[in-house]
Amino acid sequence: MTDSRGADAPQPPPGGADERLILLLVGAVGAGKGTQAAILSREIGLVHLASGNLFRAALAAGTPLGESAREYMERGELVPDELTIAMFMEELARPAADAGAILDGFPRTVGQAKALDDTLASAGERIRRVLYIEVPTDVLVRRVAGRWICPQCGTPYHEDTNPPRVADRCDRDGTPLKQRDDDRPEVVRARLDKQVPPMTAVVEHYERAGIVDRLDGTRPIEAVTEAILASIGDRATS
Ligand code: AMP
Repeated sequence: MTDSRGADAPQPPPGGADERLILLLVGAVGAGKGTQAAILSREIGLVHLASGNLFRAALAAGTPLGESAREYMERGELVPDELTIAMFMEELARPAADAGAILDGFPRTVGQAKALDDTLASAGERIRRVLYIEVPTDVLVRRVAGRWICPQCGTPYHEDTNPPRVADRCDRDGTPLKQRDDDRPEVVRARLDKQVPPMTAVVEHYERAGIVDRLDGTRPIEAVTEAILASIGDRATS
């Protein structure tokens, strides 16, 4: 019988009952991906592997990986797939990932997704579920562009959810609040314009394997966590 998912769709489960739980968390800047990854990591005891953090740590530690990644990161470009895959496979081989892992920020392109699928399959593994936290662009811009910070003491504020008592002034020391350059609405929109198309392509890639859960990221943090836990509980064992 012909496989309707096509030749390069992710392949069906090669693993058995003791297969590790490898999850992929997908969402644009401001979708709450980092927040959910931290909660999930605590709740289900899986290590959280965030590509940006791993690269920054390698850079700070001056490892060969960090040195190789440096030029790409400094230009704001993607680090080549070979390096990125090698880094992730090394992290997945550590005892901390014995039960599985939550991948965050990787894969970021369909090329990376295919390379990861192949590498995992050759070890008898696969991505078990893809959790896509969906938030409309206007809401994302509002969330990110509403963030303000006190340049004096670092206290964060948000126009909608956590405003200062006196407009534009820090509650603690009265210092005028500032906005990060890359949190300005026009910059946030530009970041999203670049980021969303490849992210959507990765989601579509895994949709062809039927392993994506789309979650409404406009709901409160706890509700999104519950939805994620429900989808892992119901489907990750399939
Ligand atoms: P982030 O903190 O996720 O924005 O990542 C910071 C930098 O790390 C990016 O600008 C890239 O240079 C690199 N990086 C993070 N994730 C990836 C990835 N999946 N593939 C290639 N490079 C990445």
